[in-house]
Amino acid sequence: MDTVDAIVVGAGVVGLAVARELALRGREVWVLEAEDAIGTQTSSRNSEVIHAGLYYQAGSHKGRLCVAGKALLYDYCAARGIDHRRCGKLIVATTAAEIAQLEALIARAAAIGVTDLVRLDANEAQALEPALSCVAAVLSPSTGIVDSHALMTALQGDLENAGGLVALRAPLLSAHCEDGAFRLQVGGADPIELRTHLLINSAGLGAVALARAIGGLDAALIPPAYLAKGNYYALASRAPFSRLIYPVPQAAGLGVHLTLDLAGQARFGPDVEWVEAIDYRVDPARADGFYASIRQYWPALPEHSLVPAYSGIRPKIQAPDEPARDFLILGPAAHGIPGLVNLFGIESPGLTACLAIGIEVADLITAA
Ligand SMILES: Cc1cc2nc3c(=O)[nH]c(=O)nc-3n(C[C@H](O)[C@H](O)[C@H](O)COP(=O)(O)OP(=O)(O)OC[C@H]3O[C@@H](n4cnc5c(N)ncnc54)[C@H](O)[C@@H]3O)c2cc1C
Repeated sequence: MDTVDAIVVGAGVVGLAVARELALRGREVWVLEAEDAIGTQTSSRNSEVIHAGLYYQAGSHKGRLCVAGKALLYDYCAARGIDHRRCGKLIVATTAAEIAQLEALIARAAAIGVTDLVRLDANEAQALEPALSCVAAVLSPSTGIVDSHALMTALQGDLENAGGLVALRAPLLSAHCEDGAFRLQVGGADPIELRTHLLINSAGLGAVALARAIGGLDAALIPPAYLAKGNYYALASRAPFSRLIYPVPQAAGLGVHLTLDLAGQARFGPDVEWVEAIDYRVDPARADGFYASIRQYWPALPEHSLVPAYSGIRPKIQAPDEPARDFLILGPAAHGIPGLVNLFGIESPGLTACLAIGIEVADLITAA
C-alpha cells in the first residue's frame, strides 16, 4: 500500500489551491478526483467573478478570505498570465427604498476593509453605462472577472512542478484512522488502498457525504447538506454594458445579475432554485421570470433574447428558511482528529478566495 504525506480530495479550484499551497510548503501531495477531468463541477459552473468582498459580515471566513483572496488572485493572475479583467461592477438601486440597502452594503464592506466603493447618483451611473436605469448605484472598481479554467490549469501546473499529482477517476469512498494515519479506500476502475497522514476533504458538493464516510468523525461536526441551483441564461445579442451589473442582494443569492465573460458575452443569473439532486439541465421556462427582474435595471432588454446557458449548484449547509452560513473550515483542533481538515459550504466567494483558503488550510495543519 502506498503512503502519501497529504491527500486532497477534489480537484476543483479550492482543492487544487490547497494542494498547491501544501506542495509549495514541501509536502508530498496527491489530489484524488472522482471525475475524468479537473474542475468539472462548481468550479466551472459559476459567474467567474473576482468578488471585492461587499456582502460578508465582519469577522466571517467569507469576508476575510474573500478580501485576502482577491488581492492574492489578482497578483497570481498577473504573474501567471491568466486571462482576467478588473472591469468593475455597479450595484444598482432601482427604487428609493433600495438606496438604504446600498448604504448598508457600503457600511458592511467598510467593516471588512473594502473602502474603494464609490457612491453614484443616477446621472453618474448612466454616464458610465448609458443603457442603465437606476435611482442610485455603487461602483466597485476592484471587482473583476477571471478565466476559471486557466486558473485551475495554472494551479495544477504549480502543484505538479512542486512534485504533486492529480489522480483522475479516483473517487475516495471511505477513510479510517489507523495507527495515527488514515487508511483510504479509493474506487474507480482499479480500486486501491492508500495511507496518508493528512486528509483534506475539499469535495465540494460531495464533502458532507464524504465526511460521513470518515470513520471516527463525530457526526455532530458534520453539517446538513442542501443544494441551491443557480440557472444562467445567455443574451443572444451583444450587451450594451462594459461593467457587471448587480441588483441589491436577495435572499440566498445576489439577485439576477449581469456578468460578462472575457469575450464580452453577457449572461444573466444565477437565480436560486432549491433542488433535491444534482441535475445541471436548465429549464428554458425559468427565463420567463428573468425578464421582469432585468428590466428593472435594463428596460430595453429585448423580448425573447435570453437562451438557456448553464447552471451551477451551491453546496449549502443551511435549509432554505435559515440564515446564510459562513464557510465551515474544520481543522484537527475542531474535530480532534490529527491531520484531518473538512471544508464545508464552500459556495461563493470560493473562487475568489481559493488561494487564501489554501493558506488557511496549510496554516491549520502546521498549527496542529
Ligand atoms: C451558481 C454559482 C455561482 C458562483 N459564482 C461565483 C463567483 O462569481 N465568484 C466566486 O468567487 N465564487 C463563485 N461561486 C463559488 C465557487 O464556484 C465555489 O466556491 C468553488 O468553485 C468551489 O470549489 P471547490 O473546489 O470547493 O468545489 P468543486 O469545484 O465542486 O470541486 C469539488 C470536486 O470534488 C470532486 N469530488 C466530490 N466527491 C469526491 C470524492 N468522494 N472523491 C474524489 N473527488 C470527489 C468533484 O468531482 C469536484 O471536482 C459560485 C458558485 C455557484 C454555484
